[in-house]
Amino acid sequence: MNVILMGPPGAGKGTQAKRIEETYGIPQLSTGDMLRAEVKSGSELGRKAKDIMDAGQLVPDDLIVAMISNRISQPDCAKGFILDGFPRTVAQAEALDGMLKDKGLTLDQVIELEVDDDALVRRIVGRFTCAKCGAGYNDEFKPTKKPGVCDVCGSTEFIRRADDNEETLRARLDAYHKQTSPIASYYADRGALTRIDGMAGMDEVTAGIKAILEKSASAAAQ
Ligand code: AMP
Repeated sequence: MNVILMGPPGAGKGTQAKRIEETYGIPQLSTGDMLRAEVKSGSELGRKAKDIMDAGQLVPDDLIVAMISNRISQPDCAKGFILDGFPRTVAQAEALDGMLKDKGLTLDQVIELEVDDDALVRRIVGRFTCAKCGAGYNDEFKPTKKPGVCDVCGSTEFIRRADDNEETLRARLDAYHKQTSPIASYYADRGALTRIDGMAGMDEVTAGIKAILEKSASAAAQ
């Protein structure tokens, strides 16, 4: 099962993709996570991407396309994958079509999480994760029970993403509306897109996504 999970930054794509990964045993391919790993490792790609990411802009298509093409050829993608944060431009969507065709694969579903920009800003600007166990928190919606101490592992070290500030986030939302939203029509035109309300509770969104995937799997089996 090959799935694209779309939605603006902070729509909950990462959380939902991880849940699909666990349920269906297919990997989440997050281009944002891959790029952050490249930046951390100090690779050539990471050096090229860092300033662009810090400014909330999009990394050039050719770099991203090469990265994803390598990744979907790995053995753990044999049963399928969930694309999270890719494609982000129509050129990337077209490149993905070519890649899938070359590999004899098809796209089963494109799911878009719809959310409100102002609500997103509140969600994202306050988010942080435990540096040790990765547990996720939010200043406003989900603070740690004891200030400065992780509920799960007791660590006192936390990480905030460099691009999770309001200015960068507004630029990322702008990039999403201008460059990524047109992809939704690209997929809608061929009947592959389903939109769901990303402002609903996390479990409700997960249930919605699973219902779409089950329906798509049973249609494919007939
Ligand atoms: P994300 O974690 O998905 O919000 O991505 C963080 C940043 O990585 C984005 O703001 C972009 O600078 C870059 N990025 C991630 N995926 C892509 C992509 N498919 N195309 C271009 N840039 C990307």
